[in-house]
Amino acid sequence: MPVARTPLPLTRPERAQQIFPTLTAAQTDRVARLGRLRKVAQGDVLFDVGQTVVPFFVIVDGHVEIVRPGGPSGTVITVHGPGEFTGEVNMLSGRRSLVRARAVDPGEVIELDHPRLLSLVQTDAEISDIIMRAFILRRVELIASGLGDVVLVGSTHCPGTLRVREFLTRNGHPFTSIDLDRDDGVQALLDRFEVGPADVPVLICRGDVVLRNPTNRQIADCLGFNETIDDTKVRDLVIVGAGPSGLAAAVYGASEGLDVLVIETNSPGGQAGSSSKIENYLGFPTGISGQDLAGRAYTQAQKFGAQIVIARGARELTCLRRPYALQIDDDLHVPARAVIIATGAAYRRLEVEHLSKFEGAGVYYGATFVEAQLCRGAEVVVVGGGNSAGQAAVFLAQTARRVHMLVRGTGLAETMSRYLIRRIEDNPAISLHTETEIVRLVGETELERVEWRHRRTGVVEGGDLRHVFVMTGATPSTQWLNGCVALDARGFIKTGPDLSPEDLAAAAWPLARPPHLLETSLPGVFAVGDVRSGNIKRVASAVGEGSIAVAFVHQVLSE
Ligand SMILES: Cc1cc2nc3c(=O)[nH]c(=O)nc-3n(C[C@H](O)[C@H](O)[C@H](O)COP(=O)(O)OP(=O)(O)OC[C@H]3O[C@@H](n4cnc5c(N)ncnc54)[C@H](O)[C@@H]3O)c2cc1C
Repeated sequence: MPVARTPLPLTRPERAQQIFPTLTAAQTDRVARLGRLRKVAQGDVLFDVGQTVVPFFVIVDGHVEIVRPGGPSGTVITVHGPGEFTGEVNMLSGRRSLVRARAVDPGEVIELDHPRLLSLVQTDAEISDIIMRAFILRRVELIASGLGDVVLVGSTHCPGTLRVREFLTRNGHPFTSIDLDRDDGVQALLDRFEVGPADVPVLICRGDVVLRNPTNRQIADCLGFNETIDDTKVRDLVIVGAGPSGLAAAVYGASEGLDVLVIETNSPGGQAGSSSKIENYLGFPTGISGQDLAGRAYTQAQKFGAQIVIARGARELTCLRRPYALQIDDDLHVPARAVIIATGAAYRRLEVEHLSKFEGAGVYYGATFVEAQLCRGAEVVVVGGGNSAGQAAVFLAQTARRVHMLVRGTGLAETMSRYLIRRIEDNPAISLHTETEIVRLVGETELERVEWRHRRTGVVEGGDLRHVFVMTGATPSTQWLNGCVALDARGFIKTGPDLSPEDLAAAAWPLARPPHLLETSLPGVFAVGDVRSGNIKRVASAVGEGSIAVAFVHQVLSE
């Protein structure tokens, strides 16, 4: 029967085959073995908007349309025919469906419930590839067309609006946004409803709930980002933090059969999620945005069955008896046989406009061989007066024409080792600017110009410089641990061979064996990634540590 309805045009028509692939007869048979065959009548709704834990359908006969309701007939996103299947990333996570699936004509479908879909993608590599790619690309299409269930009303000059926008974007949730600065009508409407500046942004969630300047947690709750956490169950492994190290641990842990819960206070991806392009991560020769990398890792972890809760923070580790327990916000206490702490560190950022636009595109937080090659023969800026800044300046001066070193203090003596100060003073390619701070970053897509000001005289200088290295240190997210594990002098977590006999004695280490690599002074509690003392602050090392720690978790669980 011909299908008359016109689906939404794709933003990437060349990808149509990957977004809406057709399974072969052999592939359909394999799905059928796990699912149940079901007859459908014209108009039957297979699942609806807002429904959680939606089944997966492969169309055997007839057509099923995917509709975003609204207006007289809604927006038809696509019409699936025989061999095609329903779903997008929400289907894996069990989040609320953004669309309705309705039979256009009488036919037959194969239905798989959520556990059977997970089993299919975990066991059939060929079908798994097809489904994963289609789900991710469909989400990308929904985002590109703004076909979400959220309208964000705010102003680009309002930090709250930027926060909410970032939260939705980093969670890969499609939304439509209305800018109050450009739409007088909406502002007038808000005035009528007495929505004041403190209530902005306003979020219209799922088309009905109106949230005024909501917290990330309120948004996550409203959009159903999180499944309920069962706090009566003792988990094999609770991972705190869903940056690259935590997500890697989740992928390895869940894929190796552990019952894994991940708690993330903000959005998946951690610091890496804010990087516009990671160019030094193995396997991505042209670079990958942190958002893409995090999105894929998040989906991958869920595919293997890890439960990831967003916008919920670990407040405390109950560490005096086993099983340990994590206090999550103020309402949950989750027991765990092993814990991986992957809470990262927050780099101190410059307080200057447009900084985030240039992060990864002229502003860097590390100076490796790659960056040194990037600025060969150029003038560069290094900000910071500590040892890491000193090392970066000396290192970069080997390839750069000139290194401008900017420090806020009156000199380096109090913050840097003597040998480094010597090298800086002796190096004619390094100019030290004391009592100085960056005041302006300029450029279209990449950094093109930098200006700095002397704090006392107010004199502004600068030039057409394209590289700024911010080496002002990082603060580890370890305050919540409340003395449960040994920390180094800067608050990073000590692990494995870095734990001295004194550390172990102070922590009353109870076992005959020494701590495993990456294990903290508390047996069965590991630390990975940027939060770990001595860690190389890179995505690759974070991912590596997350995966290695899981091997030791298995050992601890069998002890
Ligand atoms: C702008 C920028 C660009 C970068 N570019 C590169 C690059 O190009 N290449 C490269 O190799 N490295 C790069 N890095 C460094 C890299 O991003 C980090 O080394 C990496 O993200 C560390 O991963 P992580 O998982 O250890 O920690 P993080 O990425 O910091 O993740 C930690 C997570 O834990 C969460 N968390 C913290 N406390 C709690 C709590 N109490 N409860 C629950 N969750 C909590 C945080 O919200 C965060 O999501 C960049 C860093 C930045 C800031």
